[in-house]
Amino acid sequence: MKIIYSDKHAGHDPQTFFVRGVKQRSTEQPERADRLLAAATAAGHAVEAPAAHGMAPAATVHTPEYLDFLQTVARDWAKLPGASAEVVPNVHPARYPATYPRALAGRAGWHQVDLACPIGPHTWEAALAASESAATASDLVLGGAREVYALCRPPGHHAYADMAGGFCFLNNTAIAAQRLRQSHARVAVLDVDVHHGNGTQGIFYERDDVLTVSIHADPDNYYPYFWGHAHETGVGRGTDCNLNLPLPLGSPDAPWLAAGDRALERIRAFAPGALVVALGLDASESDPLQGLKVTGAGFHAMAARIASLGLPTVLVQEGGYLSDDLGRNLAQFLAGFESGRPTA
Ligand code: ZN
Repeated sequence: MKIIYSDKHAGHDPQTFFVRGVKQRSTEQPERADRLLAAATAAGHAVEAPAAHGMAPAATVHTPEYLDFLQTVARDWAKLPGASAEVVPNVHPARYPATYPRALAGRAGWHQVDLACPIGPHTWEAALAASESAATASDLVLGGAREVYALCRPPGHHAYADMAGGFCFLNNTAIAAQRLRQSHARVAVLDVDVHHGNGTQGIFYERDDVLTVSIHADPDNYYPYFWGHAHETGVGRGTDCNLNLPLPLGSPDAPWLAAGDRALERIRAFAPGALVVALGLDASESDPLQGLKVTGAGFHAMAARIASLGLPTVLVQEGGYLSDDLGRNLAQFLAGFESGRPTA
């Protein structure tokens, strides 16, 4: 299948990440995309660069205020006396009614929910290119391709309409879903990343035209903690258009695939015209983040089941961190997807 990829991702190399209060280099490193690209090309998939869409696709799901912040903050932050190389806020508005601040430190706290989304000098260019990859893949599917894989980095599914978090800045999955809405009255998103797709859920939470389904490690004791629980089902028009399927930490293939079957049943009932798969590979048993224990065979089986829906599909890369299995798991997923397509 066709792969959309931009090498601009490499300019974003976040150095700030805290684990139990200890600062270390982020696990979201450029080498991730290098390994994924190498595995996909070795498997015979053809690579194309994204079209130059600019900010338009991102603007369909993100606020102007947030896009302006992302685009300008690194430059302005560098002018502050004694500023760090990356934008990392030290204050957040938390849960009480709050006023949008003018000060850069305050704006950073408003738009960056945690310490896992530092903004460096080239973060914007990388995030924008990833959003263009998602848009280009969607356009190819709208034009008749059965499936296209957008190799996006940085990932996107933790980003809300106006808030970065968990390595994510622009929500590539939501951008793809919104773009598919140009031709399809209903679109479904299936998120198989080990983390709940909280940003995607948030963006579509009050809508009944985009179904969001996420299979993930139980946020009771795993990032993103505040979202991803089974009782979050949507509000207003979006009631019952969000399905969360949390699994106990360390769950292996069988319960993961069973959750997949429940997800597919819900998607069939919704009868969408197209699908976006938020393709995190960090549910792997080998992933350093150790949330679930999915094998290569598990990824192959999940992909085949998803493909059996027969829907035009955009696959959007989300998480999945450095391990010897990272590239292999992508190759397994893409092969499983192609093998599971219904024969015409
Ligand atoms: Zn993840």
